[in-house]
Amino acid sequence: MSYPELISREEIRKRVEELGQQITKDYAGEELVVVGVLKGSFVFCADLIRELNLPVHLEFMSVSSYEGTESTGNLKINLDISTNVEGKNVLLVEDIVDTGFTISTLSKLFKNKNPKSVKLATLLYKPARLEHKVDIDYLAFEIEDHFVIGYGLDFNGRFRELPYVGIYDGEV
Ligand code: 5GP
Repeated sequence: MSYPELISREEIRKRVEELGQQITKDYAGEELVVVGVLKGSFVFCADLIRELNLPVHLEFMSVSSYEGTESTGNLKINLDISTNVEGKNVLLVEDIVDTGFTISTLSKLFKNKNPKSVKLATLLYKPARLEHKVDIDYLAFEIEDHFVIGYGLDFNGRFRELPYVGIYDGEV
């Protein structure tokens, strides 16, 4: 079994830096509540916030909508944020938008909390698999329909520690 590299460590570093600069510009003079969607986005989130020159309040959510390699269509909140986001700028940070179910459901949930704004940053987006309407405000990389691992993304709990995004080409 091998895990061919799809996006290198250096490509990720450059792109995350660019996104950080863009977000810093867009929210200049404002505060930002960054909500990382666990577990997959934790590496991206950690790198991205260090590229922000803004007052950041970091929160995490844990949701599950996925088993094996197929979305189930069920979103369960395992861990919720611990702050009131009413009147605040919220930036949801995802690892990957696949069918779009997770993030479209989370966006709706956050819009109901009366924030000042809700935007979405995602490391990866697989347009070939999209089923739910999603507005991505900050996208690092659009990819083909591969099951990917590394840089926070797992296959059955493994490979999150890889410093690059690789293609999982083993049995799924
Ligand atoms: P969606 O709700 O958009 O279908 O799925 C989003 C979630 O499915 C992601 O947050 C991620 O946890 C998981 N996912 C979707 N595609 C992949 C993939 O290629 N690799 C990994 N590791 N997880 C994926």
